[in-house]
Amino acid sequence: MVKGEFLYEGKAKKVFRTDDPDLLLIEFKDDATALDGVKKDRLPDKGILNNHLSAIFFEMLEKNGIETHFEKTISERGMLVNALEIIPVEVIVRNIAAGSISKRLAIPEGTTLKKTVLEFSLKNDELHDPMINHYHIYALDLASAEEMAEIEKVALKVNDIMIPYLKDKGITLVDFKLEFGRHKGKILLGDEISPDTCRFWDSNSGEKLDKDRFRRDLGGVVEAYREVLRRLEGGEGPAVEGKS
Ligand code: 5GP
Repeated sequence: MVKGEFLYEGKAKKVFRTDDPDLLLIEFKDDATALDGVKKDRLPDKGILNNHLSAIFFEMLEKNGIETHFEKTISERGMLVNALEIIPVEVIVRNIAAGSISKRLAIPEGTTLKKTVLEFSLKNDELHDPMINHYHIYALDLASAEEMAEIEKVALKVNDIMIPYLKDKGITLVDFKLEFGRHKGKILLGDEISPDTCRFWDSNSGEKLDKDRFRRDLGGVVEAYREVLRRLEGGEGPAVEGKS
């Protein structure tokens, strides 16, 4: 696989063409940003961990019938993915209140939601990813009603697959963000699935094992990501006493 032209750089990833027009190379960076880019840092090895973690999640989801853009891991920081026409809608799935929903609706963080909540945001950094609804999505022609029906079905299925998978490893899936795109007439799950894009809490202690450690200056960010990888790879529960 030949690494081709540099295409695009996001906050946490670089994207390159390859010699196959259907495939792109994603390289995960160590950069971390929060608060709309106001807070920035380099977290050594974060990119390596997120490449690895995303691959594990995508492979696990593929085995469970979810179609993703993931093809294969090709280096420490690199994965080959199907080239997508990105749908600029971020899909957020919430099981437990945390982050923006807690602030917006004054729901104490950690409150289990009676029903899974799906939210949509316009993928636009300059506008700070504003929340939108179906009317906006259709009015702006971001996706069709058929595409949204498929996206919602897949997002909820991903949640149903991820919750027990993570629970078995002593991790509570609080919420996460997904992105989708079009590829040869199909909707594929794109982007990444990692502690940058999900909230993972230790099932016993409630300890945060995700990017909130960076956002909230809790320290031990890379250590937490490494702990998630250890659990996913080992299939083990938490490395703490009193595991139930
Ligand atoms: P919140 O809306 O509470 O800030 O985020 C909800 C969930 O979606 C969290 O797991 C968060 O990591 C993820 N999320 C939402 N928007 C973004 C984004 O722009 N970038 C990243 N990395 N994650 C996001």
